Amino acid sequence: MADRAVFPELIGNERLKALFADGLRRGRGAHAYVLEGPPGSGRHTAARLIAAAALCENRDDPASPLPCGRCLSCRKILSGRSVDVLTVSRGDRATLGVEPVRAVRDSLWVTPNDGEKKFYFIEDAHLMTPQAQNALLLSLEEPPDYVMFLLLCEDASLLLETVRSRAPVLTMERFTPAFTEEWLNARVKNADRSRVVRAAHLAGGSLGLALKLCQGGDAGLGRYDQAGELARLLLTGRRSDAAVFVSSLPTKDRAALRQILTLARCALRDVIAARRGGDLLFYSPEEGVPPAAGKISVRRVTELIRLLVRAEDDVAANLSASTVLMTLAAESAGI
Ligand SMILES: [Zn+2]
Repeated sequence: MADRAVFPELIGNERLKALFADGLRRGRGAHAYVLEGPPGSGRHTAARLIAAAALCENRDDPASPLPCGRCLSCRKILSGRSVDVLTVSRGDRATLGVEPVRAVRDSLWVTPNDGEKKFYFIEDAHLMTPQAQNALLLSLEEPPDYVMFLLLCEDASLLLETVRSRAPVLTMERFTPAFTEEWLNARVKNADRSRVVRAAHLAGGSLGLALKLCQGGDAGLGRYDQAGELARLLLTGRRSDAAVFVSSLPTKDRAALRQILTLARCALRDVIAARRGGDLLFYSPEEGVPPAAGKISVRRVTELIRLLVRAEDDVAANLSASTVLMTLAAESAGI
């Protein structure tokens, strides 16, 4: 069993795989796990593989990978068609409140339909309100034998200690930019070299996010390009240009706007890093910082970063996005 392929679809994450291989060898595991990592780090993939492995019809065959991916149970779970995998999500709300968690408790004693187990995938578990977490505790304390909880979260430290003490935290592996680059090159046909490098740097070790960034589309590198343009305009300090440009930014989509502001801050941070011989995060090493950055004092760049931080906070605090952007454009020209 030592050489058995466990979760072959999951890249890296050797510790997580070893832990499950061990649990499966002993025929037992915890009834709840926290899968921690940023978006795109493979939490959903890992959760589906854990569920599939627990019910795989070939799980006792040491020659078969685990999950086998071929049996009926594996196919149902891995394709998202199993009625025994119940997803609890916050929908379009900012937090995961107590109601959906109470509904979990009410359904706990309904036995599984197909197999011997049923699973609750709790998405954005870090956004559970304290009341929701306390309600969940009641289910985590003594669930029926056939229930397994998988809590997907970005940061396990946001969970109550009492929740964490009942569910081992498994942190998804973060990959180096070099590994991410290599992975993207193998995965994306005819990928543009500078896109790959940027995406690999920006993704912060998350392969799923890197792929999304690299493939662009509405999100991804589109936002990256907008952030680069915003940084360039802030550096050149021409008020009218900046004002015209910010009016084109997505004021309705606050999450996208915050991401653009954060990325622009990251670009300005690179300007200072380049001056001091540090590593670039936003710009690829080949491309370097924009030429306009060469003429600007570190003090002015620091001041621009401060304005961006304030704009991000104001957008997060639900101030009018257009007002925030116009203030940013006006004040950046005044420095
Ligand atoms: Zn199977």
